[in-house]
Amino acid sequence: DNKLSNRINEMATSATLAMAAKARELKEAGEKIIGLSLGEPDFTIPEFVKDAAIKAVNDDFHSYTPVDGYGDLKEAIITKFKRDNGLDYKPSQIVVSTGAKQSLYNLAQVLLNPGDEVLLPAPFWVSYGDISKVAGGVPVEIKTSINNDFKVTPQELEAAITPKTKMIIYSSPCNPSGSVYSREELRALADVLVKYPKIIIISDEIYEHINFIGDHVSMAQFDDMYDRTVTVNGVSKAFSMTGWRIGFIGAPEYIARACNKMQGQVTSGANCIAQKATIVALENPPSKIQYMVDAFKNRRALILGLLSEIPDIKTNEPEGAFYVFPDIAAYFGKTLRGTTISNATDFSLYLLEHAKVATVTGEAFGDPNCIRISYAASENDISTAMAQIKEALTS
Ligand code: PLP
Repeated sequence: DNKLSNRINEMATSATLAMAAKARELKEAGEKIIGLSLGEPDFTIPEFVKDAAIKAVNDDFHSYTPVDGYGDLKEAIITKFKRDNGLDYKPSQIVVSTGAKQSLYNLAQVLLNPGDEVLLPAPFWVSYGDISKVAGGVPVEIKTSINNDFKVTPQELEAAITPKTKMIIYSSPCNPSGSVYSREELRALADVLVKYPKIIIISDEIYEHINFIGDHVSMAQFDDMYDRTVTVNGVSKAFSMTGWRIGFIGAPEYIARACNKMQGQVTSGANCIAQKATIVALENPPSKIQYMVDAFKNRRALILGLLSEIPDIKTNEPEGAFYVFPDIAAYFGKTLRGTTISNATDFSLYLLEHAKVATVTGEAFGDPNCIRISYAASENDISTAMAQIKEALTS
């Protein structure tokens, strides 16, 4: 007597949100849980962004917004793409949405027909698979190796391509692995993709500024990829504006037009106050948020150091974003405190129960040997969490 659609019944619940809800439940029941499951900067919003939002309220911005975003916000986005990425877009190529998540949802809806295959180098961001599926697409996971920093190689990419391949979605810096593709690595992938002109590339660059090695490269910077690449970005991560819900794309015009049409029937334009604040956020140079990047870099060193003291945990060195994605498969088959760990989900739940630390199972990201730990948390929380994890795994 399930009255719901097959569509929703077949959709997985976002694993990161599910873990956050579980941790919240335990907290409400009086447990002291350290939450390292969410991808959410713990910084407050920069003052200059807050001021812009307050000004927008006082200036009486309240009406419906243009479906694809305010003209002055689009101009700020165009300037940002040029300044930070060397990309040239026209206003007709920009669509502002209610978070990059909606940008990605729009793209799947306007590009996929039933049966179209979507290449997802794994590990990938949790929502790519279900966003593709709900549009009728078929996710095709491409396994990568921790020994190659979880980056897909040209050979692995080409082996996954079939006549049904419609698009590829990846993030760099990557959630969850923290990997950052270099120019050479992206060019090598582009050299494969040029042979398959029908494939559209969705380049999710939401962690662009949270990069510890310096160079951020956009796929659309390659002339032969520009007309088939959609660049996705937003202000959630760099400006700590997760709850303000503004994301955007730079895209070939026909795709931008289609996203505009889709959004016009589903949500209309994004929130007016948040759009006005985003203009100011984007107008400021990335150096204004360097303090957050520096803090994340210190925390990365801290968490990698502490993780290395825990036996049988293997990590790569993340180069961006704010996650580590350790391989914990050495624990599979072991019994700890009466609990048998058979997979990454068991491991993550074990940590929640016995270390009081919330993490996310790698299964949600397409890698069943790993868990994701967010270090968007205070150094104190990171140190305590790692000590408790060590204790739970070794005593
Ligand atoms: N893409 C990646 C890789 C993310 O990690 C996230 C947020 O977790 C998003 C997109 C969605 O961002 P937004 O808050 O703009 O919807």
